[in-house]
Amino acid sequence: MKKVFFKTFGCRTNQFDTQVMMSKLKDHQLTQDELDAEVVVVNSCTVTNGADSSVRNYISSIKRKNPQVRVILAGCGSHSKGESLFESKKVFGVMGHSEKEKINEILKREERFYEIGDLAHVDSTIVEEFVGKSRAFIKVQEGCDFACSYCIIPAVRGGARSHREETVLEQIRKLAANGFGEFILTGTNVGSYGKDHNTSMAELLKKISMIRGVRRIRIGSLEPIQIDDAFMELLDEPWMAKHLHIALQHTSDKMLERMNRRNRFESDLALFEKIASHGYALGTDFIVGHPGEDEAAWQEAIERVRMLPLTHVHAFSYSKRDNTASAQMKEIVRGDIAKVRHRELTTLVKAKNYAFRRSHNSNLEVLLENGKDGVFYGFDQYFNRVEVTSSEELSSNWVLLNDVEVKEDGNYATL
Ligand code: SF4
Repeated sequence: MKKVFFKTFGCRTNQFDTQVMMSKLKDHQLTQDELDAEVVVVNSCTVTNGADSSVRNYISSIKRKNPQVRVILAGCGSHSKGESLFESKKVFGVMGHSEKEKINEILKREERFYEIGDLAHVDSTIVEEFVGKSRAFIKVQEGCDFACSYCIIPAVRGGARSHREETVLEQIRKLAANGFGEFILTGTNVGSYGKDHNTSMAELLKKISMIRGVRRIRIGSLEPIQIDDAFMELLDEPWMAKHLHIALQHTSDKMLERMNRRNRFESDLALFEKIASHGYALGTDFIVGHPGEDEAAWQEAIERVRMLPLTHVHAFSYSKRDNTASAQMKEIVRGDIAKVRHRELTTLVKAKNYAFRRSHNSNLEVLLENGKDGVFYGFDQYFNRVEVTSSEELSSNWVLLNDVEVKEDGNYATL
């Protein structure tokens, strides 16, 4: 039995993919020690040039420390850098996304191999990831049909494909029967779920909500244009988490156009206001410093962020990715300027979040994840973190909080 170590780079999707591979290893032994491993599977990320170099550096360092090791490249990087790493003999083998479930056989090969497969495959293994004993992430789809100009994902993960509805529901049924109450639906472009199977996110949500034991459903991320009337009709359902993450990426139309995004600010604002009027907290992704973001575009953007009922932000500083349209663009924004804009944005949204929490400090339904020395953590329905002090063991319990102390750095309660 060969000893195999997995090294995972990148996003949650890659972490799920590592789980899929691990679950298929029948004739090999998993090890947690990379120096003891005979095979290292590098589940790589290629989202930026920086991500590529981290993977390359890791491969060199592991071969230096463990010269006998066989390095197998998997993940997104196998589709962008696999060929060159294979040809230059930096790796023993390359396996593309569609080959993951065959890993047990692939690792038995004694000859070097390049198995890139295709980008249309959908795994039949649905991986759940558990947080404590009551929250589970469920991957419902793969890939993306959008073509944002800064993003390499469609080229390395393929177009949007959904998992079969019955497989998703079956998985949730099993987990709910085992005490899981909160489900978080994830994927590369979650909101595109169902298009290829003649169904929709709204339909899936309704079916999940009918499963006994399901108490709260969160959706990893949605694109504004994916929110249709059928989805809006579900906003007041008690099982919907009262927080949505809607990826805008920018609020200047000039920048949205450059980024080849499908959303525009006027309709984004109307959408956010409508959803917020149903009592929702709203988060977004935002890229600062994309080429072309001059001072005027930034001033317009930050003014518009002020107008949005926003409570959470994932702010990213633009990072170049070769072979994307953005990488060819001129008018580069200096790193120090991007850094200042990043700070301005996060400070603004932090203040908005604080104001939101002060006006939403009762009736908080919190699923406590784990705790230590009488201090427990969890998220309320608005996706705000709450710290609860109690002499009782409350891990994996739902609690209803009406008396919460709202501080700038978070919410606190004693039970
Ligand atoms: S929606 Fe845009 S940013 Fe997101 S994965 Fe698709 S192409 Fe990339």
